[in-house]
Amino acid sequence: MPRPIFAQLDLNALENNLHVARRMTRARIMAVIKADGYGHGLLRVADALKQADGFALLDLHEAIQLREAGFRQTILLLEGFFSAEDLPLLAEYQITTVIHSAWQIACLEAYPERNTLDVWLKINTGMNRLGFLPSEVSAAMTQLEQHAAIRDITLMSHFAHADEARGVTEQLSVFHDLASPYRMARSIGNSAALIRYPQTHGDWVRAGVMLYGASPFVDTSAQQLGLRPVMTLNSRIIAVQHLRTGDEVGYSAVFKADRAMRIGIVACGYADGYPRHAANGTPILVDGVVTCTLGRVSMDMLYVDLSPVPKAQVGSNVVLWGEGMPIEQVARAAGTISYELMCALAKRVPIREG
Ligand SMILES: *Cc1c(COP(=O)(O)O)cnc(C)c1O
Repeated sequence: MPRPIFAQLDLNALENNLHVARRMTRARIMAVIKADGYGHGLLRVADALKQADGFALLDLHEAIQLREAGFRQTILLLEGFFSAEDLPLLAEYQITTVIHSAWQIACLEAYPERNTLDVWLKINTGMNRLGFLPSEVSAAMTQLEQHAAIRDITLMSHFAHADEARGVTEQLSVFHDLASPYRMARSIGNSAALIRYPQTHGDWVRAGVMLYGASPFVDTSAQQLGLRPVMTLNSRIIAVQHLRTGDEVGYSAVFKADRAMRIGIVACGYADGYPRHAANGTPILVDGVVTCTLGRVSMDMLYVDLSPVPKAQVGSNVVLWGEGMPIEQVARAAGTISYELMCALAKRVPIREG
């Protein structure tokens, strides 16, 4: 018998979540599949999302892999190219690149081909991560518009607060002011903006986390949005301990029993991608019943309180996140976000598709 941990992937949920996104917008939908499809597997996700209008990721060789697998949609490199040597491959495989910095335009200057490249010019509207400052946009546009190699330009930016109360107003107004002289296509929204701010949609929305069935918001659940979780991380109880009052649990004894209780040992630890920072009390399902973790997560195992599930025993099913146990709740208890948990799923965890 293999170790009982596995990640079940519900590929129909990916399709469902893409339909949910479609119903929210008339813009084209770029499915963001960076980080190996948020930990779900690049080609597997692309295949389930083949109705998407485009794909966005980071790595040129992954983009080429998609082309070679037969995908004909727009494929966008979100961090653009990393060296002038990449340019002939962009042209050969018709990969669209973000242009976020002057050094990239300088590389283009030395590129001889004509009318072969589609680019997305990234504008820094306040996030200060990638993109041209408002004061630099018009010069960059002039250079790109005059460049013989450039066929098509889309204007893009990225929100820093679309999932929070502060919202998108400030950045959206900076973007509109800068984009207004140009008639190019526009893209600015991520999942949160797609769901909450229709005025941001433009020509392309870039949907990531929602496609995997997690909510980008703390105050709205995935279920409320009609999203279904794609990844369910499952394991089993492999041992049961009977604690007496005062018994301690695990490394550094961060849990101490204040009564007699049964606890279960689950075959899942931080080397599987479960967050070590998940505190005492992180919600978890045992045989379909919500209970909580106890003590410190170790490399290969963690502890659960069996008090609410008296019938649980060795072999009982455990759902760490996914169907019936929203990943956002686990993430919150670990001081992080669902994105990080999905992306951190370890290679050693077998994947089952369904
Ligand atoms: C990752 C990413 C997205 C997708 O964000 P979600 O919150 O997962 O929808 C969109 N745009 C850019 C530039 C990104 O890097």
